[in-house]
Amino acid sequence: MPAPLMPHVMPTYGRLPFALSHGRGSRVWDTDGKEYLDALAGIAVNTLGHAHPKLVAALQDQIGKLIHCGNYYQVPLQEGLATLLVERSGLTNAFFCNSGLEANEAALKIARKYGHDQGIDLPEIVVYEKAFHGRSIATLSATGNPKVQQGFEPLVPGFVRVPMNDLAALQEVARSRPKVVAVFLETIQGEGGINPARNDYLQAVRKLCDDKGWLLMLDEVQCGIGRTGKWFAHQWAGIQPDVMPLAKGLGSGVPVGAVVCGPKAAHVLQPGNHGTTFGGNPLAMRAGVETIRIMEEDGLLGNAARIGGLLKAGLQRELGGLPGVVDIRGEGLMLGVELDRPCGQLLGQAAEAGLLLSVTADKVIRLVPPLIFSEADVAETLRILVPLVKQALAAPAA
Ligand SMILES: *Cc1c(COP(=O)(O)O)cnc(C)c1O
Repeated sequence: MPAPLMPHVMPTYGRLPFALSHGRGSRVWDTDGKEYLDALAGIAVNTLGHAHPKLVAALQDQIGKLIHCGNYYQVPLQEGLATLLVERSGLTNAFFCNSGLEANEAALKIARKYGHDQGIDLPEIVVYEKAFHGRSIATLSATGNPKVQQGFEPLVPGFVRVPMNDLAALQEVARSRPKVVAVFLETIQGEGGINPARNDYLQAVRKLCDDKGWLLMLDEVQCGIGRTGKWFAHQWAGIQPDVMPLAKGLGSGVPVGAVVCGPKAAHVLQPGNHGTTFGGNPLAMRAGVETIRIMEEDGLLGNAARIGGLLKAGLQRELGGLPGVVDIRGEGLMLGVELDRPCGQLLGQAAEAGLLLSVTADKVIRLVPPLIFSEADVAETLRILVPLVKQALAAPAA
């Protein structure tokens, strides 16, 4: 083992041996001056790409006025961002926090209190196989990946797990578990391998939740905020959730989380039930407001749909028929290529060749570029990625 490059930082990540120094648009440069095309966007975070001039100017303005003030006061920028989210989702109220897991913690608290308010003393929440909801004790308990949970037992109780897109399994839960109060899933599973919930499944789950009085809680931390070509991925199915956690892309790189709720859930949390010191601070709120404003000005929903379609078609054309390519899936600029074997080495090989991407669920190449990605960026992604995938498939399967 070589000596660690950051000896005083806890070794919680497997990191590549270079550091990024700056970026512009869909490009980033490392401290040696090497250029990369960014098809990862810090894991679906840098919605507007790097150093977007409009965002930079707005954040500089905000930093010079007020970064943080606490929640003892009115924060008009919170109302501003809440309004933008409510208008685009059709929901009614937002709570602001700082990360994806915090948004999900708020959702879980809402579900439990929603149950308690109806006299259900030990409420249960339906969660999914291969789900990822974060790494706090409650959200890792909701997560459907033993690797994330191992070593952190005892897990939080009160979860019932079902497979994705299996309506019969959920109907069986409805018959057998009277304390269920909510169904909690990612509209498109991200860390689990870019696994979309089918539209007909989402519609059926919506109906079942209505029939049973359950909350439908859709974790759109990764797939929300325009990534699929609609503001929120569930809008492709023509449904609305009751509770929707958001984070990653919402601040275009500034940490911010939100849980957006409809009428069934919006008034469950009352004064004293929940809070956060940093949540909803003016800098994060400004980042959210400007991200949405700039996305609209620059037509980035349409761009995500169009460029995502080109990228998916290109991947299908170049890789689709190859033995060893199991599936190419996803929507807009949230795409996965599943191979029949582990391919974690592609992360480093692609970076070496000038392309940033990730591999998730061991076998799935994940592309979640900034929503400003261009046709030329798609061509370059394919030019670098396709030979690397072919090379990975030429080696004997492990
Ligand atoms: C990344 C992610 C989370 C956790 O977000 P953090 O900001 O890392 O806490 C939760 N849910 C989904 C779907 C995610 O992709």
